[in-house]
Amino acid sequence: MSQENPSAAEVLSVAQAREPEAIGRTACVRGWVRTRRDSKAGFSFVEINDGSCLANLQVIAPAELENYQSEVRRLGPGCSVAVWGQIQASQGREQATELVAQRVHVYGWADPQHYPLQKKRHSFEKLRQWAHLRPRTNTLGAVARVRNTLCWAIHRFFQQRGFYYIHTPIITASDCEGAGQLFRVTTLDLARVPLKDGQVDFSQDFFHRATYLTVSGQLEAEAYACALGKVYTFGPTFRAENSNTSRHLAEFWMVEPEMAFYELADNMQLAEEFLKELFRTVLEEAAEDMAFFARWIDKQVIDTLQGIIDSEFVRLPYTEAIDILQRSGRQFEFSVEWGCDLQSEHERYLTEEHFRRPVILYDYPRQIKPFYMRVNDDGRTVRAMDVLVPRVGEIIGGSQREERQEVLLERMKEQGLDPEHYWWYVDLRRFGTVPHSGFGLGLERTVQFVTGMANIRDVIPFPRTPGNAEF
Ligand code: ATP
Ligand code: MN
Repeated sequence: MSQENPSAAEVLSVAQAREPEAIGRTACVRGWVRTRRDSKAGFSFVEINDGSCLANLQVIAPAELENYQSEVRRLGPGCSVAVWGQIQASQGREQATELVAQRVHVYGWADPQHYPLQKKRHSFEKLRQWAHLRPRTNTLGAVARVRNTLCWAIHRFFQQRGFYYIHTPIITASDCEGAGQLFRVTTLDLARVPLKDGQVDFSQDFFHRATYLTVSGQLEAEAYACALGKVYTFGPTFRAENSNTSRHLAEFWMVEPEMAFYELADNMQLAEEFLKELFRTVLEEAAEDMAFFARWIDKQVIDTLQGIIDSEFVRLPYTEAIDILQRSGRQFEFSVEWGCDLQSEHERYLTEEHFRRPVILYDYPRQIKPFYMRVNDDGRTVRAMDVLVPRVGEIIGGSQREERQEVLLERMKEQGLDPEHYWWYVDLRRFGTVPHSGFGLGLERTVQFVTGMANIRDVIPFPRTPGNAEF
């Protein structure tokens, strides 16, 4: 056994070393120093963290250590260490155990003149400048663990219900929304773009056509749902929208289930069960981190989640929502009339003030929704649904899909889309069409919601927003 690389058997994580069961064991724990205090009695307390849990492990470093004066007394925030010793019951109230060091090895120093994460607390905005170091803070560490718990819960939820996890392409030729908020993918030399009749000649590009980063995996997921029944895709999506808000990223992760034979009501039911299951999971499986968020970030966050788990989501047709908003007596910045797209102020009024619980808005006007949403018998509305939650607003957007070929083609024309371009999507209606539905949940909005974090840029490791892609 090399002294610097202990065999795996004796290595404990901080989380393991903090368990009362560890008392009496000889172990090695490795991590990064958070603080060091020297006692008058001639030894030091060194708090180390390794990300395995929110809390630190308290190390008692006695003066007898061979490198006590030369190294241990110079340890400070950010230094990386391995500590061998015995775990004993702690006298302190903060922890059940502590590690009494017999040997301390320093892997790397962190010059206090330059290491930015000293005792002083920085704003989240400031911390974004150190996106590579901020996971070492309590908050960003907790966010990363909760995000992981959510991802695990997402897969578990669908796997337990017979869904197949499929992978839809990141590079695509179809603009799902027809909205044009797309990032281009090209290998053309931008300084010498080939032209043909005054237009860029994409036939000379890598794919022999114009391609983009996907805004959604839905269209491709539909092809698989119409063969495998229930599927979900879960991956990064990209939107070049110039929205500098606390709820928008240019690159974000989306979970998109798509189900054959599901109608809109089934879709709503699934979305409600799904969200409740995710919230239940973080409360149970990320309890330590959730208590941290409730203490430091949003006092209400646990009560809010528990309240939602115990409540029933409101199901509200768009037309009734307009009515409620018009009669609210509220002065909204954007006025409300039938046919308008709802702004976040309207969404938030409904979920935060009027109903005080999640609201599933459905049956939106056809002219404000994409071509693939199923047209209702009234001819004016489509089977769209948005799930609204307090503070974050829209967390899920979905619909029952148009499965009738003629209606789909009519809708494409109406929106100025070329059906030729979507021939394969139309084919799904030509050959064995079935009613089907699906939705998209934004992962970051979900992390934001469950943690209470104010800005979406602080719930993804390296956020991409207009003007920001340094890390
Ligand atoms: P919004 O109206 O809030 O901009 P949207 O209607 O464009 O959202 P959808 O196309 O329905 O969103 O996408 C499905 C889900 O993906 C949304 O409910 C949301 O949770 C998430 N989402 C959409 N755009 C973004 C973004 N730019 N950054 C982070 N999450 C997003
Ligand atoms: Mn939407």
